Amino acid sequence: MIAVMGGTFDPVHNGHLRSALELCQLLGLAEVRMLPCHQPTHRSRPGASSEQRLEMLELAIAGEEALVVDDREILSDRPSYSVYTLESMRNEYGPETGLCWVMGIDAFASFSRWNQWERILKLANLVVLTRPGYQLSPGSVEAQIWQARHIRPEQLPYQLAGGIVPVSLPSQLEISATYIRQQLFRGQSARYLLPECVLSYAQAHALYRC
Ligand code: ATP
Repeated sequence: MIAVMGGTFDPVHNGHLRSALELCQLLGLAEVRMLPCHQPTHRSRPGASSEQRLEMLELAIAGEEALVVDDREILSDRPSYSVYTLESMRNEYGPETGLCWVMGIDAFASFSRWNQWERILKLANLVVLTRPGYQLSPGSVEAQIWQARHIRPEQLPYQLAGGIVPVSLPSQLEISATYIRQQLFRGQSARYLLPECVLSYAQAHALYRC
C-alpha cells in the first residue's frame, strides 16, 4: 500500500514530515510519496520556485526510507489535478497495488468539487486526517460519501481503492508554511519548525524575504 501526500511544500516543515512518518507506521504503508504540485489550482503562487521547493523536500527526507519525493506533478506542464496524478500512478504500479490519497478533513469537506472525484475513488482510497471537534456538514455530499465508504485502518490492506479511512494522528504539530514564510519575511527565527537543512537552504537562497 502506497500513500501520496500532495502539497505546495513552500517550504516543507516538521508538520508535513512527522505526519507522513506517523501515517506510514500507523497504517503499515510501504512508503509515503511526498508530491509537490507544480501549478497550484486552488491557491496563489508560491514563494519559492518549483525547483527550490523540490530541492528543499529532497533535503528534508534524505536518509528516511519511508518517505519518497514524487516529482511527477512538479515536472509536468499540466495543472496539478489529483485524478491525472493517480492515473499516472495506477499505470506505473499496476492494478494490484493499493493507493491512498492523504488529505486533511478540511480538504475532504469540499471533495465533491474536485475534478472527477468519483474517478479518484476508483483509483485510490482516501486517508482523511481528522481533527478533534471538526464535523462534516450533515446532509452534505461529503457526509454521504463518508457514510457509504468509510473503512477501518485494519481493512485498508485488503482494499485497493474506493475506501475512506479516517485517521487521527497521535502528534499534531500546529505548524504552517505560511507562518514560516512570515517569520522569515519579518527577519525572525523559524528554527525548530522545519529541518535545519531546509532552513539553511531558504536562508542561503534568500527565500521568503520579500
Ligand atoms: P500553507 O501555510 O502555505 O498553506 P501548509 O503548511 O498548509 O502550507 P501545504 O503544502 O499546503 O502546507 O500542505 C500539504 C499537505 O500537508 C496538506 O495535505 C496539508 O493538509 C498537510 N499539512 C499542512 N500542515 C500540516 C501540519 N502541521 N500537520 C500535518 N499535516 C499538515
